[in-house]
Amino acid sequence: MTNGKMVMPVLFVGHGSPLNAIEENPFATAWREEAGRFPRPKAILCVSAHWETNGAIVTAMERPPTIHDFYGFPEGLHRVQYPASGSPELAKRVRELAGAEDVAADESWGLDHGTWSVLRRMYPVADIPVVQLSLDRMRSPSDHVALARTLQPLREEGVLVIGSGNIVHNLPLMRWGDERPYPWAEEFDKLSAELVLADDLGRLSDYAGLGESARLSIPTNEHYLPLLYALALRRPMEKVAFFAEGIVLGSVSMRSFRAG
Ligand code: ZN
Repeated sequence: MTNGKMVMPVLFVGHGSPLNAIEENPFATAWREEAGRFPRPKAILCVSAHWETNGAIVTAMERPPTIHDFYGFPEGLHRVQYPASGSPELAKRVRELAGAEDVAADESWGLDHGTWSVLRRMYPVADIPVVQLSLDRMRSPSDHVALARTLQPLREEGVLVIGSGNIVHNLPLMRWGDERPYPWAEEFDKLSAELVLADDLGRLSDYAGLGESARLSIPTNEHYLPLLYALALRRPMEKVAFFAEGIVLGSVSMRSFRAG
C-alpha cells in the first residue's frame, strides 16, 4: 500500500517446458501458491519470451486465441485452452503510457504458452483479462528497460505485470535424461539472483559484460529480456521474494520472483 492505494506486485516467472502447464510438479505448485499471496488483479499484462516482433506490439483483441507455439509435445497439451478475455482498454492504456516509446495494437496474436502455461496454474478459471506485450527485436536491453519504465502506473491501476522467460536458457545444450546442472548455469543463476537482490539493473542489462557464464546462459536473449521488464517495474527498495528456483535439463533456470 502506498498512500492508501493498493500497488500490485510485479512478477518474473521462469516458465521452462510447456509441460509445466499440465504436469504436476513443484513449479506448478509454486506458481499456484504464489497467486494466493497478493490481491487478485483486475487485469494482467504479460511480456512473454515467445512473442518477438519488429517494433513493440500489444494484443488488443477482445478474445485472444490460445496459441500452441511448440511441437512434439503430448496431444493433451495441444488441446489446452486458456479462454481469458483480452482487454482493449488495457491495450489502449499501455499504448498511451508508452507514448513516444511507440507501441502498436495487434489483432493477430493471442496468448502463447509463455503466458498461458503459467496463468493456467495461477488463475485456472481464466476469468481475468490478459494482454500480451511483444519483445521488439530492434531494441537494445536498455531500450527495453526504458519502455518497461513507462508502464509503472499500471501497478497502481490493479494490473499484474508478469515477465515470463528463463534467466538461464540454452536449448541446444539441454540434457535429456541427465538433469545435472552445468556449472556455468548454476553460476549465472546465482549471480543473477544476487544482482536482482541488489537491484542492479545496470549490470543485468549489460549482461554481455557478465562473462562466460552469461554468454552460455543467454545464447539468444528472448527468454532473458522479460526479467528486465520485471526489474524495471520494481520500485526503489521494494522487497523481492524468490518463489521458485532450480536448474532443469541442465541449462534452464526456473528462478521466479515477486517484487512488491
Ligand atoms: Zn519458453
